[in-house]
Amino acid sequence: MPERISPLFIGDHLALDFLNTVATPKGVPVEWLENGQDLIDWLRQANLIPEEISARYQQSKDLPTLDVIAGRARVFRAWLREFVTMRMGKPLTEQSATTLQPLNELLAKDTSYATIESTTVETGLRLRRVRRWESPEELLQPIADVAADLICTVDFRMIRACEGQVCSLLFLDRTKAHGRRWCSMSVCGNRAKANAFRNRQKSD
Ligand SMILES: [Zn+2]
Repeated sequence: MPERISPLFIGDHLALDFLNTVATPKGVPVEWLENGQDLIDWLRQANLIPEEISARYQQSKDLPTLDVIAGRARVFRAWLREFVTMRMGKPLTEQSATTLQPLNELLAKDTSYATIESTTVETGLRLRRVRRWESPEELLQPIADVAADLICTVDFRMIRACEGQVCSLLFLDRTKAHGRRWCSMSVCGNRAKANAFRNRQKSD
């Protein structure tokens, strides 16, 4: 088995990075959420769970339960990927709301609560949403949150797939000129430039 590279965070939105946890970055399909430990690793790298929670789950003896949760994450990912890829490049319409049941069901399981804590800015106090992290099921909630944020706050016209020939990575084009074409210039951008150069030489 070739060494798996680290998960990619090129989407410019965590919901797209989540969708990019299955991809073909070098022409070979890679799955970054194969099991429960993968899910914990990804959530930690995405900064979606606190350090102490990832440490607790990394030492968990109940791997089968975490694997089940990772399986649910993959099922949700497949649904979200279809939702996004069918609608990206155009504005979302009201009609999209009728197809959001899987996400709304996940959001309904939320047991987070608000707490007031001190901060150094402005009033000295702020309201923050926190989680109890009592059950492994809660690991899916931050994913539901970023998916909901994508759907409710992002302009879907700016979601694109990399133009690289064998690349399926999705990203949000946040550039001012809205001209981003590649997952990363160093991977697909340079490859495309090299191909174009070769083609030009051939036709000379
Ligand atoms: Zn690419």
